[in-house]
Amino acid sequence: MKRRFYVLAFAFIAFFSFTTAGVAQGKQAKYVFYFIGDGMGVNQVNGTEMYLGELQGKIGTVPLCFASFPMATMATSFSATNGVTDSAAGGTALATGEKTYNSAIGVNEDTTNIYSIAVKAKEAGRRVGITTSVSIDHATPAAFYAHQPSRKMYYEIATDLPKAGFDFYAGSGFLQPTGKKDKNAENIYTLFDKSGYTITKGFDEFNMKCQQTDKMILMQKDGKDNASLPFAIDRKADDLTLSQITESAIRFLTKGEDKGFFLMVEGGKIDWACHSNDAATVFQEVIDMDNAVKLAYDFYQKHPDETLIVITADHETGGIVLGKGPYKLNLKALANQKISQEALSKKINELRKNKKNQVSWEDIQALLKENMGFWDAITLNEKQEQLLKEEYQHSFSGKEVKMKESEYFKDEPMAALAKEILNDIALVGWTSGGHSDGYVPVFAIGVGAEQFHGRIDNTDIPKFISKAAGY
Ligand SMILES: [Zn+2]
Repeated sequence: MKRRFYVLAFAFIAFFSFTTAGVAQGKQAKYVFYFIGDGMGVNQVNGTEMYLGELQGKIGTVPLCFASFPMATMATSFSATNGVTDSAAGGTALATGEKTYNSAIGVNEDTTNIYSIAVKAKEAGRRVGITTSVSIDHATPAAFYAHQPSRKMYYEIATDLPKAGFDFYAGSGFLQPTGKKDKNAENIYTLFDKSGYTITKGFDEFNMKCQQTDKMILMQKDGKDNASLPFAIDRKADDLTLSQITESAIRFLTKGEDKGFFLMVEGGKIDWACHSNDAATVFQEVIDMDNAVKLAYDFYQKHPDETLIVITADHETGGIVLGKGPYKLNLKALANQKISQEALSKKINELRKNKKNQVSWEDIQALLKENMGFWDAITLNEKQEQLLKEEYQHSFSGKEVKMKESEYFKDEPMAALAKEILNDIALVGWTSGGHSDGYVPVFAIGVGAEQFHGRIDNTDIPKFISKAAGY
């Protein structure tokens, strides 16, 4: 019922936006939402919608909120130096409208500073929020506020944060609070404090302090991972979520005098799950970002004449393919996966420690039954069972285990194999553990959304937003 409402509402809005394009020209996007799904190529979106369809017992899509927006197109994502971009050059293109070399943060090919639309928004008197589900000094958010020759200069990137002087930042935390080269360099938290930023940890603390300060950095609670929020599939009740971050940002940027805002929200872990070729985790991350987009869509419905929402990606990751030969998909099999490859790896590792490496085949079977549905809802063929047994013998023979390395994780090979088998059963294929140059999708709704049509380049997107917002 709710879905039918969305479809009808979007159809109406699409019709309305076309028929009133002339009227819309005089309007300005006082409120801008810019969502970036890191690594979210067209198949990550289509795969999620087809997966949701299969869960309802049909062949076809259950539309995500953002993928149903009236304007949709595709963008090229190559960088100035590489056919395949990284998140730094991709983020810089999406932030500034200029292509640069892979690894560059807010600088052009000559390493000269270039400035993002967030800076323009701030100069135009708007409030600005830069948020992510990974660390605040990571490439995508950094491209909006920092200027450094390399994305790996996390400390230097963090020192650029108060210089940009934006109103609200949020994410898991910071990777390098103290300088690497200069031991006497000021701790970034001291620097933030001196610059008037209030640090809040977790959603409850945000709620307590929201009204007390004009500059805020929202992070995870102490004891949580500073590198990223947990995957949606692994989430615990007290974990900070991308939806909470989005809700916090909207409330923080609209309190007091109404100045309008520019808000960037990154779904950063879609990319991480794609680097691990973990389809079940990817689809949950896309759904999770869609939940955050729904909050923006609610806001849009209250301010339809002054709001623009844009959703895109910096690049595709993993070269995901839906279909591996047979003309069918079995995506619903992925619903049996209860945790990410990373979390499964941790469980195997705990088992190893608790049992002093005396792990039995039955122990592994019980673990894979509980978390992947093997020997339960999922029937394995002889070859798949053989592969698991071989890996068991190898992994628990007492010899050193070679961990399966991906961009962000070193996982138990048994966890990686189990996930690989489930992806195979779902008929989802992967090309690599890196990025690819597939088109990225672009969706838009609201003031200025009509610009997003025809094939575009990633550098066009901030230009279109600038035009719609008048800065
Ligand atoms: Zn990546």
